[in-house]
Amino acid sequence: MTAIKSYDVIVIGAGTAGLPAAICAADRNARVLVIEAAADVGGTLHWSSAQMSGAGARRQKAKGIDDHPDLHFADVMRISNGNANPTLVRLAVDQAAGTLDWLDDIGFDWDPVTPSLFYGHQAYGRARTYWGRDQGKSLINVFRPALEAHIRAGRVELLLDTRFESLVVEGDAVIGITARSADGQVLTAHAKKVVLTSGGYAANVALYKEIQNRTQYQQAFCPTARGDGLLAARQAGANVINGHLYTISTLTVLKDDTFPSPLSLRVNTIPQNRPPWEMWVNDRGERFVAEDEPIIDNREKALEAQPGKRMWIIFDDVIRRESPDIIMAWFETPMADPYATHKAFFRADSIEALAGLCGLGVAALTAEVEQYNRAQAAGADRFGRKHMPRPIVQGPFYAIRQQGGALSTTGGLAIDAHMRVLHTSGKPIPNLYAAGEVIGAGQTMGDAAVGGMMVTPALTFGRLLGQTILEW
Ligand SMILES: Cc1cc2nc3c(=O)[nH]c(=O)nc-3n(C[C@H](O)[C@H](O)[C@H](O)COP(=O)(O)OP(=O)(O)OC[C@H]3O[C@@H](n4cnc5c(N)ncnc54)[C@H](O)[C@@H]3O)c2cc1C
Repeated sequence: MTAIKSYDVIVIGAGTAGLPAAICAADRNARVLVIEAAADVGGTLHWSSAQMSGAGARRQKAKGIDDHPDLHFADVMRISNGNANPTLVRLAVDQAAGTLDWLDDIGFDWDPVTPSLFYGHQAYGRARTYWGRDQGKSLINVFRPALEAHIRAGRVELLLDTRFESLVVEGDAVIGITARSADGQVLTAHAKKVVLTSGGYAANVALYKEIQNRTQYQQAFCPTARGDGLLAARQAGANVINGHLYTISTLTVLKDDTFPSPLSLRVNTIPQNRPPWEMWVNDRGERFVAEDEPIIDNREKALEAQPGKRMWIIFDDVIRRESPDIIMAWFETPMADPYATHKAFFRADSIEALAGLCGLGVAALTAEVEQYNRAQAAGADRFGRKHMPRPIVQGPFYAIRQQGGALSTTGGLAIDAHMRVLHTSGKPIPNLYAAGEVIGAGQTMGDAAVGGMMVTPALTFGRLLGQTILEW
C-alpha cells in the first residue's frame, strides 16, 4: 500500500481561484498539492472574457480616476438588486485593488483601454472594469510561470488529469481528500487545510436542474465544471444556497436550439454602444420591452419573463444595409452570409413568410410590425422606445434568434468571511475552505450580471486564502 502523503494545503482545481490560492500559499513556503481534473491548468479562464473590477488600483489612479471601494460596494449591491452577500462583497471590493496591483506586479497584459466603463452589464458609476488583451488567457499567461517556478522548487505538486472524488473526514474535521487518476488509480492525501476551487456545475445538466430548477441553455463552460467540489462538500454536511437566483443575458446567439448549445456569436443589443434599429419580439411574435431601455437589468428581466427565455430580432433590408453591424463578436469562424447557413438566422420575402420560418404567430408578428411602423412614424412608442430610425417595410425581412441564458451557476457553498465552508448547522466545517464559482455566483452578483464580480472575487479569495490560510 502506498504511504499517504501529507501537505500543508490541498487545492482542488487549478483555475481562476485555485491558481492564485496555490501560488500565494507556496509563496509563503507552504507545501501544496494541486489536484486538477483537466489535462491543463486554467479552468474557465480558457473560455472567459475575464473582465475584472476594482476601485483604487494603481492603474486606475494613474489614469486620474477618482474611485473608492465604498462606491464599488454600493454599485455592486445596487446592480445585484440587494441579493448579493454584503459580507463577501465587502471583502471582495476592499481587496480588489490589491489583486489588480498584484496582477500588475506579475506582468499582466492589460488591454490599454482599461479601466473602462462597460455597458455589456449594468454600468458602474466609475470606470473600474479591466480585462487582459487575451481575455482569460492573459491570466493563465501570468499564473503558469509562477506555478511552474514553485513546482520546480518542490513547493507545489501538481497532478493533472486527476479527479478529486471525496473529502476525508475525521470527527467533524476535514483531514484530506481522495482522487482518481486518468488510469483509475485512487489516491488519498492528507493536509492541514483543503481548499475547494473546483468551479461551478454548468457542465452537469442534472445538478443544474436540481439546484436551479431551470434549463441549461448555453454550453459555454469548462467541461470539468461538474460540481464535484460542491457535491463532496454537501456530502460532508455543507450548506448549498442561492439556487433560486438567476442571471440571463440578451447578447448571445447559440449555434442551435438543442440545449445546452455552444455559443455562436454575440449581438450588439447594448443601446449605449449601438442604439437599436431593429424590433424584438418573443416566441408569440409580440414585443415585450423598449429595445433601447438603458438599464440592461430591465431588458434582461423582461427577456427572462418570455416563453423559452428567447427573443427574435426583426428587421428589414434597409436596416440591414444602413445600420451599424449588429454582430459584435463570433465565438466560431465568422460566416459570410449567416442568413444562408446559420440555424438562428432567418430571411424571407415577406413578414408572413418570416413568421412561418421562425415559428412565430403570423397574425401577431404582422400586427406587431404594423404597430411598430405606426409608432416609428409618430415618434411615440407604447414601450417608450426613443430610437426608431427606420420602419420595417422593405423586403427581404430578417430575424435573428437570441437565446437568454446564464454563463455562471448561481447556487453554491455557503462560506463565511474567512472563506470557511459552512455546515447546514451554520458552523464552519473545520479545515475546509472554498473560493470561486463553487460558492455560487449569487454570493457576489445576486440575480444580475455584475461586471467582473465572478473573476475578481475568485482571484481575490484565492489569493487571500493562499496568503492567510495557514495562520487560521
Ligand atoms: C464565456 C464566459 C465568460 C465569462 N466572462 C466573465 C467576465 O468577463 N467576468 C467575470 O467576472 N466572470 C466571467 N465569467 C465567469 C467566470 O469566468 C467564472 O465564474 C470563473 O472563472 C470561475 O472560476 P473558478 O476558479 O471557480 O472555476 P474554474 O476557473 O473553472 O476552475 C475550476 C477548476 O477546477 C477543476 N476541477 C473541477 N472539478 C474537479 C475535480 N473533481 N477534481 C479536480 N479538479 C477539478 C476544473 O477542471 C478547473 O480547472 C465568464 C464565464 C464564461 C463561461
